[in-house]
Amino acid sequence: MPATRLDGKKIALEIRAEVAKAVEQFVAEGNAPPKLAAVLVGEDPASQVYVRNKERACEKAGIASQLDRLPASTSPTELLERIDQLNRDPSVNGILVQLPLPQPTGDGPALDERAVLDAVDPIKDVDAFSPINVGLLMQGRPRFLPCTPHGIVQMLHRCDISTAAKHVVVVGRSEIVGKPMAMMLAQKDGSCGPETANATVTIAHSRTKNLKEICLSADILIAAVGRPEMIRGDMIQPGAVVVDVGINRVEDRLVGDVAFDEAAEVASAITPVPGGVGPLTIAMLLHNTLLAAKLQAAK
Ligand code: NAP
Repeated sequence: MPATRLDGKKIALEIRAEVAKAVEQFVAEGNAPPKLAAVLVGEDPASQVYVRNKERACEKAGIASQLDRLPASTSPTELLERIDQLNRDPSVNGILVQLPLPQPTGDGPALDERAVLDAVDPIKDVDAFSPINVGLLMQGRPRFLPCTPHGIVQMLHRCDISTAAKHVVVVGRSEIVGKPMAMMLAQKDGSCGPETANATVTIAHSRTKNLKEICLSADILIAAVGRPEMIRGDMIQPGAVVVDVGINRVEDRLVGDVAFDEAAEVASAITPVPGGVGPLTIAMLLHNTLLAAKLQAAK
């Protein structure tokens, strides 16, 4: 039987409607609308689209947004100064720096992504990239959860897919997706309760031996690799749940890290690309921006 499609787009719309309602309530209690500041350095076309989508989503949820467009020639000092201003601006609740940062074109110093992300005030760190927020997550007492893995947890929960006592294989160990995903599902409890935590987690990466065997042992397989259709149907255990985080442009279409048609023949449920994990990421960014505004209002 072909797999059920996990409709991330629909779930993201549900979450966005919930956030919009909660924003309305927050404002009705006498608070200013939450505000997200996005910093975009350079002219990368994909980054421009992502930032525009985030701005639109904010607007629909009643969240204010501002966009700082900085030229690709921005120096590290200038960028850090701008972040410092946003940190100190009481009207800004959340700060996101759109990645990747451009590489220098001339002899100028490179922008160090880690240094830039570290400069964001942890209480405004709606992407949850700061070491403070990562540390809190590791210790099982998170403040902000990183948007993509949190979106996946929300989706699994809302689709009644339990991870407790299951073997989850996460392919990819990036700071943004793979590592926090593994950590969140291995915790005793999570944002959606213990049923969407308590997994036995294996993290695979480019130096993993026997990737196929490891993937075949997964009850839930999460692919965050960035390699088009690398996970084939014969790497999936019959009946497994497959979550495809990958967004890869191949010629003029978007494909995931999983060969969808083959995988859908074997899996019990699978996320499509596009329309799977992608929309959830933006929904959770809105959630985090409201959370940031609430935390700052309570200070
Ligand atoms: P990344 O930082 O490039 O990390 C990729 C990971 O995959 C690395 O850990 C790498 O291993 C591993 N890998 C590479 N080749 C492999 C192979 N042949 N076998 C096993 N593991 C391999 O990527 P990312 O930022 O996590 O993004 C992954 C994908 O998700 C991309 O397509 C990206 O566009 C997409 N993405 C989507 C969303 C969304 O909202 N849906 C959000 C973020 C990212 P090493 O560590 O050993 O190099």
